[in-house]
Amino acid sequence: MGLTGIQIFKLLPKTNCGECGVPTCLAFAMNLAAGKAELDSCPYVSDEAKEQLAEASAPPIRPVAIGAGVRAFKTGGETVMFRHEKTFYNPTGLAALIPSDMDGKALDKKLKEWNALQYERVGLNLRPELVALKDVNGDVTAFAAAAKKIAAESEFNLVLMTDNLDAMKAGIEASGFKRPLLYAATKDNVEDMGNLAKESGLPLAVRADSIDELIGLSDKLTGMGLKDLVMDSGSREIKRLLEDQVAIRRAALKAGNRFLGFPTITFPCEMADSLDIETVIAAMLIAKYGGIVVLSDFKGESIFPLLLERLNIFTDPQRPMTVTQGIYEIGSPDENSPVLVTTNFSLTYFIVSGEIEGSRVPSWLLIMDTEGLSVMTAWAAGKFSGDAVGTFVKKSGIADKVKHKKIIIPGYAASISGEMEEELPGWEIMIGPRDASLIPKYLKDNWK
Ligand code: SF4
Repeated sequence: MGLTGIQIFKLLPKTNCGECGVPTCLAFAMNLAAGKAELDSCPYVSDEAKEQLAEASAPPIRPVAIGAGVRAFKTGGETVMFRHEKTFYNPTGLAALIPSDMDGKALDKKLKEWNALQYERVGLNLRPELVALKDVNGDVTAFAAAAKKIAAESEFNLVLMTDNLDAMKAGIEASGFKRPLLYAATKDNVEDMGNLAKESGLPLAVRADSIDELIGLSDKLTGMGLKDLVMDSGSREIKRLLEDQVAIRRAALKAGNRFLGFPTITFPCEMADSLDIETVIAAMLIAKYGGIVVLSDFKGESIFPLLLERLNIFTDPQRPMTVTQGIYEIGSPDENSPVLVTTNFSLTYFIVSGEIEGSRVPSWLLIMDTEGLSVMTAWAAGKFSGDAVGTFVKKSGIADKVKHKKIIIPGYAASISGEMEEELPGWEIMIGPRDASLIPKYLKDNWK
């Protein structure tokens, strides 16, 4: 269990210097106990106190870093049961299975297909992170060769799945530089796998047949000094798996059970006969509370909805999604192309930019920072006023890119046109349509 605010306070310097951002050490201690402050914010904590306080300030579910390169990710680190309480931080890692007896050419083809499954949404690149390489025949050389190929020739990170210690050692030698997850320590090999993970400094998954057994194994491994663990409760039946996921999360967050304070790994690929059903199970696990989900394959029709679901579940519900303020080119606009302006609420941006693209009229789209509010809300909140938009247009640099002085504003913000004219002397303020779906017609009718 973490320390209380008073216990933490006793370990602080008690000078009330305020450098941590709050006026007193007591206030800082209370924030630390509530998980609202970082220990590093106080520069005066002694090393001895730091060691004791690290426990108190550590998140109840340890964040575990897996992989290297562009698809490296963290799993765990969550602090709430429900997303609306605060936010979920580290998106579920998505993996697909490769058997170790797949030949080199087939593996190349698979990796190429999977690598192409990348999608741009709200300025983010959505893609899966992992390949789970499963030892299917005890062939150490084949396992190591596949691990090497995946690690060295693809962006994907790895889960090395074998109970064979020699195969695991060879896999680590071949792909250790990519920080793979080792799967798994069980009651039969816990010491050997624990030592291997410790020597290599790699994260280790723990597989048990029940949560009680999981606690015992976790106790043993943490006692050996291992910190980066990932839990598999062994359930391969949907209802029990869901109950286990909830029980593990609840035990870590509500009861402070440190032995269960780790992310989980789950295997829809071992629970269904079709990718469709696996995808449905994976969707459940993204919501509750799979740290890593392993599928039998990545196909566009399966992975795309899962990536979108993941994006939605793991965004902060208190902060609207935004795009960066600036000038966006749609098509290949030139000095005669129309200029439109709207807000930086990501949904607004994607709808408006999509409609402009569909119109096939190359255009300049000015995106103004309204803290993620849509046009109507930003206007009502005074963040999309004529003054503000006019000032933004002046500073944006768009006047250097076009030789006309016309700007199209959203129909819902028609009332700001007067103020904009005052702020932008010589500019013609054109009122665009209220509904974005009418933008193509509007551009064709009004922009010759
Ligand atoms: Fe106390 Fe440290 Fe904060 Fe200063 S910076 S008030 S010493 S907790």
